[in-house]
Amino acid sequence: MPYTDTNVAIIKDKKWVIETFLPLLNLLDIDNIPAPSVDRIINLSDHRDFIIKGMGLCVVSISQEVLPPQTKGIHITSHKKITVQGKKIDHYRLNIIINTNICNKTSRKGRLLLKLTIVHEFTHAIAALSAISRIRLSGLIERLLKKLRKKAEHKLNDRDIHYMLRDLCKPLIKILLSIIHGIPIKWYFGDEHYRLGFEDIQESYPSILESLLLPNEMFRIFFSEDDIHTIQTAYHQNRVIWHPLTIPVFRQININENLPKEFIRRRYISFLSNIVRNQ
Ligand SMILES: [Zn+2]
Repeated sequence: MPYTDTNVAIIKDKKWVIETFLPLLNLLDIDNIPAPSVDRIINLSDHRDFIIKGMGLCVVSISQEVLPPQTKGIHITSHKKITVQGKKIDHYRLNIIINTNICNKTSRKGRLLLKLTIVHEFTHAIAALSAISRIRLSGLIERLLKKLRKKAEHKLNDRDIHYMLRDLCKPLIKILLSIIHGIPIKWYFGDEHYRLGFEDIQESYPSILESLLLPNEMFRIFFSEDDIHTIQTAYHQNRVIWHPLTIPVFRQININENLPKEFIRRRYISFLSNIVRNQ
């Protein structure tokens, strides 16, 4: 029987989720998707870390199809039994299908649309991978596949993208006030949109999606060790949040990643709280 980490107690917190799945998203090289293209296919059985984590039976792919113009993307999980060394085993393909009409765009708006679509569908793939890694009984597999089929009925469209963008640009102050007053933050695609019920990830999926769009590590690329030290000191001594050193970094991330400014500022707060805690 293959060893999987479902056999031992591992805390699957946000750090675990990002450390596990961000490398997979990077392998898919989504910032470099032209059209037409060949499918991007990642065989998780080629990656020891995913085998250990019980996901070695899965293939994750991105393909392009001509879909109705309004549809941007879909996530579809297919399942079949394959025979390996005389034994029948379950095999899954998690396919992110994107509409050909959103590929090969060069404008900032066009690149952001592609990125949002893929990261949204990839977040569905994380839920599916996490659930698959825990399930071996055929009855449960059937129930999971039924749920996945139901989720796949949702096709990401223009309206969805509009509201996703509105959520990304939610002012920081609104979010802080919700936290202070204990009012749940309302997201257009809340946790329930992604959650399958079989996975053991506790972290909310909207928060995972935001970290995938702009990981904390991205800020580390732009700040030198000295910059980080200066920012930490300014925060501890004078509670400085928006240090002047952040301005060129925000500008550069805005240019490189095509992400809205408000969102970059919001993600920076997460980075800042991280570096001032771990000083
Ligand atoms: Zn969705």
